[in-house]
Amino acid sequence: MFVDSHCHLTFPELHGRIDAIRADMAAARVDRALVICTTLEEFSHVHALALRYDNFWCSAGVHPDNEGVEEPSVERLTALAALPKVVGIGETGLDYYRLGARTLEQMEWQRERFRVHIRTARQVRKPLIVHTRSASVDTLAILREEGADLAGGVFHCFTETMDVARAALDLGFMVSFSGIVTFRNAQELREVARFVPLDRCLIETDSPYLAPVPHRGKVNNPSFVPHVAAAVAQLKGLAVEQVARATSANFEQLFGLPSAAPQPP
Ligand SMILES: [Zn+2]
Ligand SMILES: [Zn+2]
Repeated sequence: MFVDSHCHLTFPELHGRIDAIRADMAAARVDRALVICTTLEEFSHVHALALRYDNFWCSAGVHPDNEGVEEPSVERLTALAALPKVVGIGETGLDYYRLGARTLEQMEWQRERFRVHIRTARQVRKPLIVHTRSASVDTLAILREEGADLAGGVFHCFTETMDVARAALDLGFMVSFSGIVTFRNAQELREVARFVPLDRCLIETDSPYLAPVPHRGKVNNPSFVPHVAAAVAQLKGLAVEQVARATSANFEQLFGLPSAAPQPP
């Protein structure tokens, strides 16, 4: 019934817990998950999960926060994107939150890496999984400059303003909400979740981080995504089943997956 559109099942916090997580997912009716890649070094582990389990898919990409890792090229990402069960490019984007002593000029490597992902996504016709933090102006400018609307994608773990949400929708992107939407201090984000049309919404956990209320502070996992769906449903005045159905259909449409909905007789 539910899809977790963004989780990191290869991170140390969840390592070795796959069987327990899958049992919890089944109990919570979380049917499917997209396992997100953050370094090329990690890709083979992420991909192995997608190959091993029917209801897992994966992405290929290098997270903007990762330094001192193998730098992706269009050629390398294109080759990975051609492998079975690789359905998206990312996570990629810009993150100026951890600038430290550096200036924005010194972050050119991040912008160049982002452009490489967008060019790949256009070439392989797969959607982008975009991470943006403290960098929305540059993120939107680069997406526009590189013609990212031709690839499409999702702004994952959305924490930006209404204006940024509007700009993302104008580019044809979806907006994905995480457990943050359940946090007490996230009133502005709840307004954004109310605003984004249901047919453009995804839900995610971003496990192992950001566990939704009532699990806040615990290690997150995909079986908690129904709490995100429930929060979005409450904000929109809908039944949780409607949000589950719509976000699952949006996931299928964005990542080009077959429908899991029961077919009419
Ligand atoms: Zn992210
Ligand atoms: Zn992530």
